[in-house]
Parts: sequence; structure tokens; C-alpha cells
Amino acid sequence: MITVMKFGGTSVGSAEAIQRVANIIINTKGDKVVVASAMSGITNFLVGIVDNPTSDVDGIVEQFANKHLMAAQQMFDDKTMAEFKVEFDRRLKCFKRAIKSDPNDAYYKDLVTSQGERFSTLMLSYYLRMLGHDSVALTAETAGIAAIGLPLSGSADLQATAGGMTMRVRPLLSQGIIPVITGFYGIKDGAPLTFGRGGSDYSAAVVANALDADILEIWTDVDGFMTADPRIISGAIKIEEMTFGEAAELAYFGAKVLHPRTIEPVRVKHIPLKVRNSFRPEEPGTLIHNLRRKGDGLLKSVATKNDLAIVTISSAEIAYRPELVAMIIGKIAENNIIIYSISTSLSTVAILVSNDEVTSVIQKLNEIDDGVIERIDVKNNVSLVCCVGDDLLSKCGVTGDIFTAVKEAGVNVEMISEGASEVSLNFVVPMGMVEDVVAVLHEKYIG
Ligand code: ADP
Ligand code: ASP
Ligand code: MG
Repeated sequence: MITVMKFGGTSVGSAEAIQRVANIIINTKGDKVVVASAMSGITNFLVGIVDNPTSDVDGIVEQFANKHLMAAQQMFDDKTMAEFKVEFDRRLKCFKRAIKSDPNDAYYKDLVTSQGERFSTLMLSYYLRMLGHDSVALTAETAGIAAIGLPLSGSADLQATAGGMTMRVRPLLSQGIIPVITGFYGIKDGAPLTFGRGGSDYSAAVVANALDADILEIWTDVDGFMTADPRIISGAIKIEEMTFGEAAELAYFGAKVLHPRTIEPVRVKHIPLKVRNSFRPEEPGTLIHNLRRKGDGLLKSVATKNDLAIVTISSAEIAYRPELVAMIIGKIAENNIIIYSISTSLSTVAILVSNDEVTSVIQKLNEIDDGVIERIDVKNNVSLVCCVGDDLLSKCGVTGDIFTAVKEAGVNVEMISEGASEVSLNFVVPMGMVEDVVAVLHEKYIG
């Protein structure tokens, strides 16, 4: 039995947190493979270094080192501290070298922001050793996590990763050693490529896929996958069970508890996933798997994605010119822009993209021959609301109920996407109103 256990930033954010996590690992039966994020706040600190460069590299390295060493001093006895310091200092030198490398390299930000995971995993692994459990700290490099894709938005090469892990990680398990692997990034052409913010969940799913694990556990700071973001809805409730499809839709449309790409690597291998609270390990968490069991309410959970924009492209009788629709979408795809929703009418195509991508979208559309596009309108600062429930599409009147509730909140719906997914109904509202909408939906149909 192989359990892949992923611990997020707050779960390894202090000496106490790491000690708690080590106990969770030790108390888990069978073979265990651990994946960890950087200590909370560290990746933001590293992003800050790249976005606002300073000449005081030594000062930065010292600040970074102190945050880790303070926690290490609280956890380790003298012998462990001495052993830990040797590897820690070696990694710190590499960290300094990374900051000082060429900032114009396309993968510079990946290189610098992926450094935090190398230190949190080292601390956790040494702590396990101090408690008498054989463990090694592996980086994505030494574990063999292979990546493909563009800067800051890599994907794992699942096949290559499976090859690497079979060679480097499986033998450790057969010797009873607990590998502790860095999350967040993989290796492309010998250098780190990150999987997007929050990417350690995805790393763990990739590791579970590569090792044909029996279960993936995502340990975080809430009791499980909830009916809404608990920071927005104080009465959000933990969901006992959900399907891969439901969790994937919610994660893609903003439920931060899972990185949007976490589901696929485990779904393809039917590996169940649990979301659990490292601060309350006695709680069973949420089970995400293939089985669908009906709940009682109309809705199961609501997620929101902010900072989006609707770009409406007008052209006479566009509906009769499928090649034009293909050209518009094709042009936008050339810049790798994610389209969250598409809606068409006789003479318009409306697409939903991130606010940050609007300039790039317009620039691409301007490359289309003169006169073909008659007008482009942009509505910035909208949010997408993703409602997931059992049989949303087949139950009569559900859409009516949802939009009546939205109307009661006094909110205008800007765009609707229904029927594209079996499990969700998505619509777009002005960003300033989104929390009111979620509150009304939660109160009426979930809470
Ligand atoms: P970690 O550092 O463990 O990866 P994250 O901060 O990335 O943790 O994700 C956990 C957080 O996700 C929770 O603290 C909660 O605020 C937020 N969240 C948003 N939507 C949901 C949801 N539907 N269920 C649970 N948590 C959610
Ligand atoms: N440390 C990375 C981040 O903050 C990855 C993660 O936490 O999953 O984005
Ligand atoms: Mg996370």
C-alpha cells in the first residue's frame, strides 16, 4: 500500500507544524511518499525578490536562511542540527547562485521561486530521521519529476516522470525509507519549471500517478473540500464525498483548496484523493473518487474566479462563417491564453479571459484582416460563479431557481455557460457583487 501525502505551506510553516506533520506521517501505515510545499510566506518572498530586484543579495539570503534556521533550532537536537547544516549550507549556496543568475533568462523566475521547497523538505526529512525513521530529502531533480511547457505554467511529463520515479523512488520504499520530495516544480532541460502557484498539489498527484499509489492525501489547513471558500462564507460546510469531475470543475473555477490540475493525474489511474486538515488529523476529510452518491441539497459547492473580462467580438452574420470563429479562437490560442467560457450569437462571439490577458487578446485579434471584425467590446472586472450539484442539468427548474436567487441579490448576470459540463452551471457577474451572490446561493441551497 503506497500513500502519497502532500503538506501545504501552513502545514510546514513552523517548527510546531512540521512536528505535527511528522507525527501524521509516522502514524500512517504502509509505504509513504511525502511531497511538501515551501514554508508559508516563503514563495511570496521569493516572488518579491524577482519582481522587485535589490542589490542586497546577501541580506536576502540571510533573511531567507534565518526563517528556516529559527524553526530548525527549535526542532533539532545538536547532532541533527550539525548534519542538517551541512546540506542546508550547500543548498543556500545554490540559492544565492540562483538569485545572481541571468534575470533575463525566460526561466529565471521559475528558478528563484522554486527554491523554498528545497528547504522545507530538508527540514521535514531531517526531523523524521531524528525521530528514528529513515528518510531522504529528494528534489524534483533527484526524484525525476519531468516537466514540459512554458515559464511559470509547466505540466508534468507523466511518462518520463514514471520512468524516473521507478528508478529512483521505488527502491527507497522497498528499503523502508520515507522520501520527502519538493513540490511545485519539475525539470525541463535540466532547469526548474514551476507548475503555477499552488502547484505542489499537482506535483503530489503526479507522484501518485508515477508510483501507482493507492491513495493521495492532500493535507492542508481546513477540514476538507467545503461548500464554499470559508474565507467568504463563514458558514461553509465540509463535503464528505465528491466525484473527480465535481472537484476538478470547482478547482478550475477558483476553489483554491486544490490546484486546478490536481485531479487528472489521479483520475486516470482511479487513485482516490483525500483532502485533510493537518491541524486536526482526527477529522476524516473529504474523499474524492469515481463514485457518485447523491446529496440532499440542490447545490453541493460554489466556487468563484475573479479578475476576469468579457471580450465581445462583433462581425455581421458571424454564425454563418464558421471559419471566422475558428480564426478568432485560433489567434487567441497562439498566445496560449485560457478561455474560461465562450458564448455566440448571430453576429457576436463573447469570450471570458483573465483581465491581464485582454491586451494580448486584442493585439492578436488586430492581426486578423482589416474589416472582418467590426467591433471589439471589453467588460473588465467580472467574476465567474461555478455552481456544482447532483444532476444539475437533468433536474427541472434548477437554472430558474439559481437565477431567481441571483436576481434577489440584485445582481445582473453578464454571461451564462450551461450544459457544457454535466455537473456544473457557470455564470458571470460584476466582480463587486460576487460575494453577495455566493452568500445568497449558499444560504438558499446549501447552508
Ligand atoms: P495549502 O497551503 O495547504 O496548499 P491553500 O491555502 O492553497 O493551502 O488552500 C487551502 C485554502 O483554500 C483554505 O484555507 C481556504 O481558505 C481556501 N479555500 C477556497 N475554497 C475552498 C473550498 N471550497 N474548500 C476548502 N477550502 C477552500
Ligand atoms: N509554494 C508554492 C506556492 O506558494 C507551491 C504550493 O504552495 O503549492 O505557490
Ligand atoms: Mg495550495
